[in-house]
Order: sequence, then structure tokens, then C-alpha cells
Amino acid sequence: MGLVQFGCHTFDADLIAFDKDGTLFDFGASLRAPFLAGVERLVAGFAGQSEVRAELYRTLGYNSATGVFDARGPFATSTNVAIGYAIVTVLYQHAGPEQDWSDCEKLLQEEFGPMFEGTRHLKATTRLQTLFSSLSNRGVKIAVISNDDASHTESALAGFDVAPYVDFVAGGDGPFPHKPAPDALLEAAERLGVAPARTAVVGDAVTDLEMGRAAGAGLRVGVLTGASSREELAEAADLVLKSIGEITVAVGPTDQPEPAPDRWSDRPDGQ
Ligand SMILES: [Mg+2]
Repeated sequence: MGLVQFGCHTFDADLIAFDKDGTLFDFGASLRAPFLAGVERLVAGFAGQSEVRAELYRTLGYNSATGVFDARGPFATSTNVAIGYAIVTVLYQHAGPEQDWSDCEKLLQEEFGPMFEGTRHLKATTRLQTLFSSLSNRGVKIAVISNDDASHTESALAGFDVAPYVDFVAGGDGPFPHKPAPDALLEAAERLGVAPARTAVVGDAVTDLEMGRAAGAGLRVGVLTGASSREELAEAADLVLKSIGEITVAVGPTDQPEPAPDRWSDRPDGQ
């Protein structure tokens, strides 16, 4: 339906499925501060604060020496439910005799969860409104498939004025098996009447790209605005971009009757 430039590659896309955290929003710039603040609030009531803090960092996949999240760790790749269980398990192991499991769950809900509500902490990786409106105007459908809750995902899209352009949203608390399972992407393609082969998947994690592979997506695009390095993404990606800022609607045949031959020779599908 629409020729889309992914850096210097052109792909004829009917659907682009974006990940949210680390893709639409810069992972470190958006999530590091609320993560650290949330951990401090969790450990505040514990006697051995430094020990609990270190164990939470290790368990969730955060290197406090470098300030970097493990690209394959739970905080970077998993759902809020799974992250929550990991946190409560650590808290419970350090809890005093007067604290039980439900107290630790309450701590999680009251002290950690609220740090990620709203959209003020989110730093978009490009002008989302410009990108999404241009794709939509060209007839390219847009899906957002996130491990974050669907309500968080929808409020983030609304907060950045792009909700009207998004045709399908799946969150980590929804009915689909989590990435890298292909189910959410296959459902999006079917519901929107799009062939997976004419779908591009864009994400900052290997699990996003593996979802694309499992679903038979025509193009898998890694971005470097998340926790993963170029080397980590390269194996599972057809190409790696610095950010989604390198995605633009291409000048197509209707705009340019005689495109230069090399426009077509570099199409990833070889057509
Ligand atoms: Mg991500």
C-alpha cells in the first residue's frame, strides 16, 4: 500500500508493527529515572537497604555501575506482571517477621507502579505525530505491540496525539502470548486484512524481531533507542536503524512517475 523508507531501504508496507518502550520512547531516558526512584521507595523501609537494592537491580537486569539495563533481562523484555513477581519475591526474602507476601505485593503496587503512570516521563524517539500521520495518510496501517499494559500503551499514544492513527494495540496484560510469540502480530495482520509478508516489525529487543520472524513478517527492523546493541540486534534483524526517526514515507510511483532504477534494486524482498 505504501513505500516506506527504513533508512536507505525501501519496503512496500501494508502494516508496520511498532514496539513501545525503547522504540517509540527512548528506553533509558524514559524509564531509568522512574525505575531508580521506584527502587528507592521500595527499599526505604528495609533494614539492609543496600543489600535489597543490589538484589533488585540484579534480579531486574540493571547494572548500577554502568546505568545500563540488560537487553534480555526482565525489566527490558517482560510484562508488568512478571516484573512484579520478581520484585515481590526479592522483597519477601528480605521481609521482617511482621511482613507477609501480601504486604510485599502492596509495597509494589503503592511504591513502584505509580512511578510509571502518566506520560510525563516518556521521551519520544522522533516526532511521532509526523511519522504516524504520514504513514496513515499513505494507507499504511499501524500496530503497537507492547509488553507494557494495554492501558499504559493507549494512554501513551493518546498523550502524544497519535492514538487516531493506530489501528491495533496489544499490551502485555492482553489475551495474547508474549513476544517472541507471533500471536499478537498475526492477529493484527488478520484483523486489518494484511499479509504478514507485507508487514514490517520495528523494535529495540531481539524478542520483537523474533516475533516478526515467527509471524513471517516481510521486514524486521531493530532500533538502537532501547537496551540492545547493534550487535545483539543484527542477528535477528534485516536492518538496524539508530531510531524510528529514520523511517519516512518514500516518494512512490504516484509522486514520481519515473523513479531511478536503483530505488527498486535495494528492496529487501529483492523485487
Ligand atoms: Mg522494547
